[in-house]
This record gives sequence, C-alpha cells and structure tokens, in this order.
Amino acid sequence: MMKKLALSMMLLLGIPFNSYADMQHHHHDWSYEEGEQAPDKWGKLSPKYTVCAAGKEQSPINIDSSKAITSELPKLQFEYTKIPLQIENNGHTIQINTNHQGGKLQIGDESYELIQFHAHAPAEESVDGKRAEMVVHLVHKNAAGKLAVVGVQFEEQGDTENPFLATLWKVMPQQEGDPVKFDTQIDVKDLLPADHNYYTFAGSLTTPPCSEGVKWIVLKQAVSFSAAQLEQFKEVFHHNARPIQPLNDRKVLSSN
Ligand SMILES: [Zn+2]
Repeated sequence: MMKKLALSMMLLLGIPFNSYADMQHHHHDWSYEEGEQAPDKWGKLSPKYTVCAAGKEQSPINIDSSKAITSELPKLQFEYTKIPLQIENNGHTIQINTNHQGGKLQIGDESYELIQFHAHAPAEESVDGKRAEMVVHLVHKNAAGKLAVVGVQFEEQGDTENPFLATLWKVMPQQEGDPVKFDTQIDVKDLLPADHNYYTFAGSLTTPPCSEGVKWIVLKQAVSFSAAQLEQFKEVFHHNARPIQPLNDRKVLSSN
C-alpha cells in the first residue's frame, strides 16, 4: 500500500521509474502473490532462478508418512548458545540472525552452524497432505557450505502463548528494513519440541534461487502457539509459503 502510494507520487513528480527500485531497501523480483512474479513463474524471472522450474529436488514437499522409510539415522544434537536478539523484516519473512554466535547442530559426525531462522505461514512442508499453521526454518551451514534446514511445525492452540515466540513477536518489525538489535538474550533451544524424531530428505531453498543440495530435516513433534500469535504474523505476511513441489525420485527417511 505504502509502496504503491510512493510509486504513484514519484510518477506524478516525474521521477524516473528505475530510481524507485534503487530507493528500496531490498529489490524484490519475486513474490508469493498471484501475477507476474508468482511462485509458478519464479524459474522464468531470472537466469539465476532456472532451477526453481527445472530442478528435480525442489522444496517444499508433502511427506507421505506411510511411504517414509524407517532408518538408523543419527540423533540430532542441538548445541545452541544464547545470543542477543537480532530481528529483521526482509520483505518476505521475519528473520532472526545469529551472526555466527548461535552454536551448532551436530548430525552424526557432521557439524553445522546455526546461521538464521525465519517463519512461514502456513507451514511449507506438509505431512500426509496437512500443513501446520506456521513453520520455523532453522538454517544451518557446514564448513563446506552445505545447508541443513530444520523445520519446526507450529500448531495453533487457542490462548496458549508460545513464550519463546512471545519474546520475538514483541519486537516484530512491521515494515521491511535493516536488522534491529536488542539486548534481550534468546536461547534457540527454547523453540524446539521435546522429541527430536524427524523425517529427512534432499531438497532446495524454498525461495529463489531455489538452490538444491539442501539437507531437509522436519521434526515430527509440533510445538504450540496462540491464535493471537498466528494472527500477528499473518498481519505482516498473510501467506508466505511456496506451493508443494513434486517428490520425483526422492525417498523420505524417518528416524523412528
Ligand atoms: Zn524457509
């Protein structure tokens, strides 16, 4: 709304159109909305985004629990550390950055550093055709640059506030802008469910450039949050989930 207003003001004042994009904090060239930049057109929007359409291991997927293969999988060891809260609205989601202080996730002998986490509503991955109301994606990177994303499903439970989310949402930036730092310390372990059993599969980033080679881990146990907490997020991002992508030849493994 504000952007449309700003744009029409500039056109009225005769300011060249392309300087409008330069003025923006981030240049948006893709969207979750219907139209020219819709998810089914991401692959055509830029030569850098072709894998969004051509890739065979795209995320998110639907997990068919009856077809998941129970396997001996390593336990997830979350070795997170307390960090000062740094939060941003990047125009596509609310994101919390760890600035290399967030600690790590150990998966067997693989070690991944927590780099950021962010939310989507509704959840992107679905299980047996059902999407949770929201998901938080914890993004980790190993020394070789490989990404491992852990999905934590959020189920709306009426009045029951999620205390960890309450700390974040209290300072949620309504408008897109630079990251904001607070003195508040957060412990990202407080976001996790008690049970760490999971599904795992090969996938991609769920936003352009949709790069593949991402290790996906979806925790089976959901955590709860309140209807008001869901509403507060949806007032800023009413729908920021990519549609479900074809599974193709991939297998989903299950830890139990
Ligand atoms: Zn995500």
